Amino acid sequence: MIKEKFENKVWLASPYIHEEERKYVKEAFDTNWMSTVGANINELEKNICDYTGCGNALALSSGTAALHLAVKMAGVEQGDIVLCTDMTFSATVNPVVYEKAVPVFIDSERETWNMDPKALEKALIKYKGKVKAVIVAELYGTPAKNDEIENLCKQSGVPLIEDAAESLGALYKGRKAGALGDINVISFNGNKIITGTSGGMLLSKDKSLIDHARKLSTQARDDAPWYQHSEIGYNYRMSNLIAGVARGQLEHLEEHLAGKKAIWERYAAGFEGLPVQMNSWEEWAEPNYWLSCFIIDENAFAAGFTPEKIRTTLLEYNAESRPIWKPMHMQPVFADCDYIQTGEENICEDIFRRGLCLPSDLNMTAEQQDTIIEIVKSLYNA
Ligand SMILES: *Cc1c(COP(=O)(O)O)cnc(C)c1O
Repeated sequence: MIKEKFENKVWLASPYIHEEERKYVKEAFDTNWMSTVGANINELEKNICDYTGCGNALALSSGTAALHLAVKMAGVEQGDIVLCTDMTFSATVNPVVYEKAVPVFIDSERETWNMDPKALEKALIKYKGKVKAVIVAELYGTPAKNDEIENLCKQSGVPLIEDAAESLGALYKGRKAGALGDINVISFNGNKIITGTSGGMLLSKDKSLIDHARKLSTQARDDAPWYQHSEIGYNYRMSNLIAGVARGQLEHLEEHLAGKKAIWERYAAGFEGLPVQMNSWEEWAEPNYWLSCFIIDENAFAAGFTPEKIRTTLLEYNAESRPIWKPMHMQPVFADCDYIQTGEENICEDIFRRGLCLPSDLNMTAEQQDTIIEIVKSLYNA
């Protein structure tokens, strides 16, 4: 083959760290705020509110914990139906099951790979009166058709939960991801556009909702001098050390966005002429370019140019790529759940079968990326 393997692994997406993170973590040590309270938490919440324009934020131990509280705050209870993005990470859906509610999976549209409003409408009719929430994930950092989805939710009186775990920094018609639903979730997991090493956040315009979630996240103590509880609580609060990392990262979000965009554009230019289409969006969106992905034309499969061939070859060169999220309705654990599509063909299944997430790491050099492009090209011309 054409090249030596990479000496250091080229990752799909790994942390990209600056000096400020160390500074804020050191401050926590120096001031002994080594707990789930402290200046880093307060500043992170404030700065995320300022950035997203969403009025109230609650820093939590993970995006999954934030999704769990989002589901609870939406009033979801045992036996309720929750309509969920089908093609996403399982953490979008698991909290529905924590509450013994029933997820129903909604197919994607081709323009953004996100929840199809037409399929959502069909599901809202099928499950009229039983739906307690809609959870929309913004796949790989690309906003969904939010106005259409929001209108359908409003008409049905159902709260919209935005899973913006992958999409912080993205714009929908000039509005920031993380402020697009009634209840919104972001993640600071190690592979996201910015990280706290872990962590997440719940956001809402509704102050009383965030106040209630804050109480539940800190063991649901009533306002009394002794430990008194009228509700079941959780230990979901973010650590002040982790908040220090996320606080430092947030100061570099714009730089990360530019870096991710440059990676996407380099792939798009490099793959010109190949039978692939990069992940896309419509003119009203500015994605955060978290992961660069493509789907391969059907007719190239016969020549052996398949996502799995590319993935395993890149791995031989010590570079990590990854299949598209396997749709939830294809997961063994959700085999009994209903899923809704508009036509004969399931779009999520098609994108899963033909798609691949490419190495999109901010630590990847342009030379490394050029080598990756060359390897992919050599597989088509082989
Ligand atoms: C990463 C991710 C989550 C979970 O976030 P954690 O902080 O890892 O718990 C939820 N939903 C989506 C779509 C994600 O990509």
